[in-house]
Amino acid sequence: MDHFQPQNGELHAEDVALVRIADEVGTPVYVYSRATLERHARVFREALASIPSKRIAFAVKANPNLAVLRVLGRQGYGADVVSGGEMKRALAAGIAARDIVFSGVGKSAREMAEALDAGVGQFNIESEEEGIELARIADGKGMRAVCTLRVNPDIDAGTHEKISTGKADNKFGVPFDLAVGIYARLAALPGLQMRGLAVHIGSQLADLRPLELAFEKVGALLSMLRAAGYPVTHVDLGGGLGVPYKAGEELPSPAEYGEMVARITHGWDVELMFEPGRVIAGNAGVLLTRVIRVKRNGNRPPFVVVDAAMNDLARPALYGAWHDFDAVRPTGERMTAHIVGPICETGDTFARDRECDALVAGDLAVFRTAGAYGATMASSYNSRGFVPEVLVDGDKYAVVADRIPPEEIYAAERVPEWLG
Ligand SMILES: *Cc1c(COP(=O)(O)O)cnc(C)c1O
Repeated sequence: MDHFQPQNGELHAEDVALVRIADEVGTPVYVYSRATLERHARVFREALASIPSKRIAFAVKANPNLAVLRVLGRQGYGADVVSGGEMKRALAAGIAARDIVFSGVGKSAREMAEALDAGVGQFNIESEEEGIELARIADGKGMRAVCTLRVNPDIDAGTHEKISTGKADNKFGVPFDLAVGIYARLAALPGLQMRGLAVHIGSQLADLRPLELAFEKVGALLSMLRAAGYPVTHVDLGGGLGVPYKAGEELPSPAEYGEMVARITHGWDVELMFEPGRVIAGNAGVLLTRVIRVKRNGNRPPFVVVDAAMNDLARPALYGAWHDFDAVRPTGERMTAHIVGPICETGDTFARDRECDALVAGDLAVFRTAGAYGATMASSYNSRGFVPEVLVDGDKYAVVADRIPPEEIYAAERVPEWLG
């Protein structure tokens, strides 16, 4: 359920007309709904009500906007970060360092040192090499880094190959059959306090079965580690739960996910950690865009050229992803069209042969489910600048990220004097 619904035939974000935001802020613009973010945060937490000890960290990479992080921080969410930049954002948004989990295969020595200095709550180590380096840095500071070891369970998550992370040939985690040995060697290092395991097999999972298999394997590993005398107190189950991108699409609900987790982890006697991203933010945002023109195409479907492009919302170009596309003021008439942006690449196509609301030049429309992996993946390709972001709360809204025009981006560039 989201709060982007029509009122008097016109699409609103909560109680704010999208027409008003388009007029006052311009297009394209990302629009987020606070009520939807809070609702999703609550639903996810309630789905885990039967888990005795748990912590939830929002996966910052899904939507790192400071205001969004503030909303979720106030819901009791920590932050799962995958770079020093994300760590700094989470801290800037007011999330306590101890509630930050640092994941990722490529933590640099500098990022590790900064995270130790900041006091982040947990590092999810992705390789023995990384663990050794972190141990050395922590020991040099007279500290012990609190860690879990991320394992790669070699399970096909059944999602798009670019967002699958739990197969043996993916770069993430340590091979399952080597995990006990690596854990033992890392646990012996003075700079580390190994306290458990982590797993994350991919994103936009439409089926709980691969997650269940992965968690079962982690449970087996947990028993092996305990049998070998290691006190495992924490298991991080990652994120990955998918969201519906098409109206009417059925995906496993947070409640079904929670029931499965409770069943598989029964008796583990650990604090469970969760890192949801998309399921919290995905349907809490839309990309609002204006039709520049409708280009006729002979007998073929016309091109609806909108002012948003692949640099603003990369998922269709990157993963062939579907986003529902709806008029802000639908007339009731329909058309079949290709929805494209202005960028000089055929990849700048949001949809082909899409049946959608009939649109003409100047009309407003939204790409739905753009609250996760949307603005954060933007680039300035074709010197288009960065799209602003707006957060709606009831009948008010605020611009929570300014539009960054191309002039401000090239202001950071220099022409050396010797070029004359
Ligand atoms: C991306 C990521 C997540 C969040 O994934 P979603 O599919 O957005 O829930 C969680 N944990 C890790 C380690 C990730 O890389």
